Amino acid sequence: MTTELNLHPLVQHYLTILRDRSTAAQDFRRASSGITRVLVMEAAKKLELDKFTVQSPLEATEGGRIALPVVFVPILRAGLGMLDVSMEIIPHSTVGYIGLERDEATAEANCYYSKVPDMNEAKHVFLLDPMLATGGSAVQSIEQLKALGANRITMVCIISAPEGVAVLETVYPDVDIITGVIDRELDENKYICPGLGDFGDRLFGT
Ligand code: URA
Repeated sequence: MTTELNLHPLVQHYLTILRDRSTAAQDFRRASSGITRVLVMEAAKKLELDKFTVQSPLEATEGGRIALPVVFVPILRAGLGMLDVSMEIIPHSTVGYIGLERDEATAEANCYYSKVPDMNEAKHVFLLDPMLATGGSAVQSIEQLKALGANRITMVCIISAPEGVAVLETVYPDVDIITGVIDRELDENKYICPGLGDFGDRLFGT
């Protein structure tokens, strides 16, 4: 299932800052954290709770804690812009990294790094990639994660292209997508339009 949060006022607010070509890197990073907070809150809605009784200073009442561990996997390098705030929101999470580099000539992703905590079927994996463009990086990352035993995967991205969403929905219909917005299209260089340009460059000021 794909959930688009483009009607959320905070998503619109942060997205506008991210799109604005005059936004400086430090403000871009702040907006990236702000919008990720909303997206991860949405993704976290489906986490299950272990219910237990908690003793307040006044009386016993029903409590709950996140039942299964969550693993955040940012796709390097742009996904790093979504990591800190994600870890802040969901305590006791662990982190894995998948490094994919886009070949500018073919727009295909090559994996140059992968380090992911021990997976078992019970864990939820939140895959963080701000730009779901062709879907190539997402498919490649999900393939790796599934091969390692992950089977509850949610893709969290800030801007998606309709092409990338269609690919992911076709190849991995079991993977939910949470996205801030689905933009119009990919251009001939596989950039999302209207988009925000190269997320990694803007995040790191390169
Ligand atoms: N990655 C980016 O950083 N921007 C795009 O538009 C597409 C992929």
